[in-house]
Amino acid sequence: MLDFVDLEADLGQEERMIRDTAREFVTEHVKPDIGDHFENGTFPKEIIPKMGELGFYAPNLEGYGSPNVSETAYGLLMQELEACDSGLRSMASVQGALVMYPIHAYGSEAQKEEWLPALGRGEAVGCFGLTEPEHGSNPSAMETRAEWDGDGYVLTGSKTWITNSPIADVAVVWARDRSDPDTPVRGFLVETDRDGVSTNKITEKLSLRASITGEIGLNDVYVPEENVLPGVSGMKGPLSCLTQARYGIAWGAVGAARDCFEEARQYATDRDQFGGPIGRFQLQQRKLAEMGTQITLAQLLAYRLAELKERGEMRPQHVSMAKRNNVRTARDQARIAREMLGGNGITTDYSPMRHMANMETVYTYEGTHDIHTLVLGEEFTGIPAYQ
Ligand code: FAD
Repeated sequence: MLDFVDLEADLGQEERMIRDTAREFVTEHVKPDIGDHFENGTFPKEIIPKMGELGFYAPNLEGYGSPNVSETAYGLLMQELEACDSGLRSMASVQGALVMYPIHAYGSEAQKEEWLPALGRGEAVGCFGLTEPEHGSNPSAMETRAEWDGDGYVLTGSKTWITNSPIADVAVVWARDRSDPDTPVRGFLVETDRDGVSTNKITEKLSLRASITGEIGLNDVYVPEENVLPGVSGMKGPLSCLTQARYGIAWGAVGAARDCFEEARQYATDRDQFGGPIGRFQLQQRKLAEMGTQITLAQLLAYRLAELKERGEMRPQHVSMAKRNNVRTARDQARIAREMLGGNGITTDYSPMRHMANMETVYTYEGTHDIHTLVLGEEFTGIPAYQ
């Protein structure tokens, strides 16, 4: 596996163990059928509790069954999952960073006890409802609202593009609290079997096909007051979750890129044209040289991000740079790897085209490439250019 500057040398025993466990798990249980799942637009649901058993959901949290592993270990886990498929990493990211994290950070004791162990074991599935049909890049304009009705809230609105909503037991829904004069955004834990909740599946995807995506319809859905996340109000709530998930994506994308590189490297030595392996041609070597270099740079950024996060010094802007760069790298390198595989490269027998298609989603969700560009633009000029 590509590790040109020997980052492995600095890993601790626990970090190697988590990485190797994830690598073995995907090799044995997921890789053999992932091409079929991608083609059929299905997610291998039977692995959800198995991933829980192995500690793949938010192992970087502390307590309630989570072992509080290092941020590097968590990153390596995301890297191995996404080296298999972005759908797999998305499952773990949503469950861990977008559902368990807000409950852990902002939930009541009762909410933590009810949900964190079950989500961690993969006995319950969660989803995160922020995006709406008319509000994607600017979620602060959300229209979903919560009206106080005396002993609880009534939620009305719709969310879309929600990973796992059709299979979720609970949704973290972000809505405007109209009972407060400032109408701040609040987080609500909405069990998906409540009256008025619908979770239609989106079926027309050409990207992230091995992942279930859907809507959340909220038609006068009553939730008791104890389902509100008490510890946060305002956009800080959802944005802080996205910072956690984007951290995992910055690592995960390196895994997808590395897998493309390894497929291309192998193919370059296996495939003969003009009387010998295509890897002897300088044009092919140049592609591998560039891929190897770009992926190594992305790895270095991910490792540095882990150090900053571990020290409590990671800022959202750091994450924007790493997510933006590493996903772009994976998207570009997947395409070059696909090219090196010739006609075989367009099939599901090899991973690059699947990764390439997946990267279109990863490039767009959790803040589009453009939006992270604007975040960095503001960081470097002091002038926000969002409007
Ligand atoms: P828009 O915001 O409409 O953007 C369209 C284009 O305009 C983009 O290229 C964008 O970069 C550009 N643009 C927008 N504003 C600006 C600006 N100010 N300056 C320059 N360019 C701009 N959301 C959830 O809440 N939960 C989930 O689990 C989830 N999972 C997803 C899974 C998949 C498969 C996909 C595709 C999306 C998912 N999303 C989820 C939604 C995702 O986060 C949004 O698609 C994303 O935020 C972009 O919003 P949008 O699609 O409405 O695009």
